[in-house]
Amino acid sequence: MRVDAVTLFPAMIDSPLSESIVGRARTEGFLELGFANPRDFTEDRHRTVDDKPYGGGTGMVMMAEPVYRALKQLRKKGSFVILLTPKGRRFDQSVALELSKKKHLVFICGHYEGIDERVTPLADLELSIGDYVLTGGEPAAVAVIDAVTRLIPGVLRKSDATVNETFTDGLLEAPHYTRPAVWRGKTVPPELVSGNHKLIAAWRSKLAAELTGKARPDLKPPQQVKKKSRGKAAH
Ligand code: SAM
Repeated sequence: MRVDAVTLFPAMIDSPLSESIVGRARTEGFLELGFANPRDFTEDRHRTVDDKPYGGGTGMVMMAEPVYRALKQLRKKGSFVILLTPKGRRFDQSVALELSKKKHLVFICGHYEGIDERVTPLADLELSIGDYVLTGGEPAAVAVIDAVTRLIPGVLRKSDATVNETFTDGLLEAPHYTRPAVWRGKTVPPELVSGNHKLIAAWRSKLAAELTGKARPDLKPPQQVKKKSRGKAAH
């Protein structure tokens, strides 16, 4: 999969995604990551990317043109463009699964007070990683790219590693235990050391249902991601 990001701070995405499983996915060619910095698409001496908001108010707003030009460089036929914003659709495992099937994702990361609203119609999806406000879209891009990358077939060495995990089937996953069997006086549930696969599966289903009912009664089975209809702005 190819993933690109329009960002003023590429290192905020590149660096965390160079480690661990995603870092390995990059070196093994499962994920190609690229960037375009709106600052490189400015024409003035100061390489200005932001300006004061019309109507007044605090903070600065990212100007549409440098973002548009950066996006234009990255976007190809078939690209799926995601604008990261706290006002977007809430990211969850079902969205991650849908995005993992795309060939090319392009993230637009805002900063400061956000991006000129006229850029919004250029995106196929407005996406939020939760009901809180980050300083920029970069940490959100890292979270989404991480969750999507581990769903690309071949990235996790055991192909079933993502099948029964939390959120995949609308349930939280049953708890895990590892050796030793007795740790500081605490034992492992006997079903897990029984060697009886049916018993283990039944125990896990029961625990998953109980845990979900207690901790997240709101969870529902995954839904499809819809591509939104585009506005009138030029592409
Ligand atoms: N003024 C904006 C508002 O009140 O909605 C918040 C802007 S925020 C400080 C700067 C940028 O961080 C946003 O343009 C967006 O790209 C990103 N961002 C902040 N919180 C986010 C979240 N929960 N999910 C995704 N992106 C987020």
